[in-house]
Amino acid sequence: RFITFEGGDGAGKSTQLRRLAAWLQARGHSVVATREPGGSPAAEAIRGLLLSGRAKPLGALGETYLFAAARIDHLAETIEPALASGAIVLCDRFIDSTRVYQGIGGDLDPAVLAAIEAATIAGRLPDLTLVLDLAAERGQQRARARSDTPDRFESADLPLLEARRQGFLAIAAAEPARCTVIDADRDADAVFADVASRVAELLGL
Ligand code: C5P
Repeated sequence: RFITFEGGDGAGKSTQLRRLAAWLQARGHSVVATREPGGSPAAEAIRGLLLSGRAKPLGALGETYLFAAARIDHLAETIEPALASGAIVLCDRFIDSTRVYQGIGGDLDPAVLAAIEAATIAGRLPDLTLVLDLAAERGQQRARARSDTPDRFESADLPLLEARRQGFLAIAAAEPARCTVIDADRDADAVFADVASRVAELLGL
């Protein structure tokens, strides 16, 4: 099974993913926890290019190709082998982040983005995507409260953050069989209760 976490910066994706990994392992499941961009050696190298801003001169389309290249390697080296071995794969961001971050606020042709996505994933869609939903201001507060320095993509103003939020919600509304929206403006235990219950349903636990 392939489960992805999506949502804006500060929504709590990494925290919830870690908790879900531990929860599944405690129930005897083999789990591979990974992230995008990254998750394999070549993809982590590309992540460094993207997040440092060194790939910025390539423009939005060039950066999109790098996200796609990272995803191709991540799928081939990490995700597909793990799924083939029977593991549950948990991934922090996947195609919906690209649809939202590269697709909103830039001038990329949606048809080009869709074609790149299709060629990149070759049919490997998540079985379940958990969209952690949070108002733009709250996500910004939480992201700022983190001590790390913001990466190249984290300096967005509130209207752009809110547009991204609406982008994730629109994807979830369009693909309800794959996507479940979870209210992330609660404490981590309450959010995790919803995460675990949706995953239990998916896995028949
Ligand atoms: O989730 P994480 O903080 O690791 O993501 C790294 C950065 O890359 C974030 O700032 C995120 O907004 C950005 N990103 C992006 N497009 C993607 C995936 C991530 O701009 N497709």
